[in-house]
Amino acid sequence: MTVERVEPVESAEPSDYVKRLPIGEEIPLPEGGIPFWEVFPYEGDIRIKPLDEPVLPEPPRKGEDGEECPGCGDWEGPVLWSDEHWKLRGFTEPEGVPAQVMLLPKAHGDLADLPPERLAEFGGMLQRVERAIMTLDGIARVHINRYGDGGSHFHVWFFARPAGMLQLRGTCLPLWGDVLPKVPADEWQRTNRHIAHALATEGGTAHV
Ligand SMILES: [Zn+2]
Repeated sequence: MTVERVEPVESAEPSDYVKRLPIGEEIPLPEGGIPFWEVFPYEGDIRIKPLDEPVLPEPPRKGEDGEECPGCGDWEGPVLWSDEHWKLRGFTEPEGVPAQVMLLPKAHGDLADLPPERLAEFGGMLQRVERAIMTLDGIARVHINRYGDGGSHFHVWFFARPAGMLQLRGTCLPLWGDVLPKVPADEWQRTNRHIAHALATEGGTAHV
């Protein structure tokens, strides 16, 4: 069984949705919107940026522009753990959240390209990585994000939310991660090792 590639429906013309957008105009802050939530990391006078004109067709993402794919190579971050088909990548530089890792299939392709065997493993891998992160001290929750706007090699982000920090719940955790003091480098490395070895207890190999 093969999976049919799903390409975005691309047109050089903006969609009706895009044509309706207030491009270049002032956009008022929505009453009760995210900037007014307790979890939003900024306060004071803020404005919404004007929207730029659409870019169609969109520029290639990393890995689809003929350049070497950073998801296939490993120069964007150390591989903490891997098995035959999956790898868990860490981040060389500490972040502001207590732990942050990325799960990728070893073979190149986006979510739509994953063969059925990898898809069948994927749910189990999400659970294994979350469980590995939850074995760290002081983690209340693991957030899992997939964007796919920057790189074409399927990759899933995991962000650890520190226990007790209710303002860091939900949507804005990566924004808090950007502004909070970075975790000390030695603690960051210990955390990465801890996650790798916790994952390896159920299979695969820790590399740090
Ligand atoms: Zn790749």
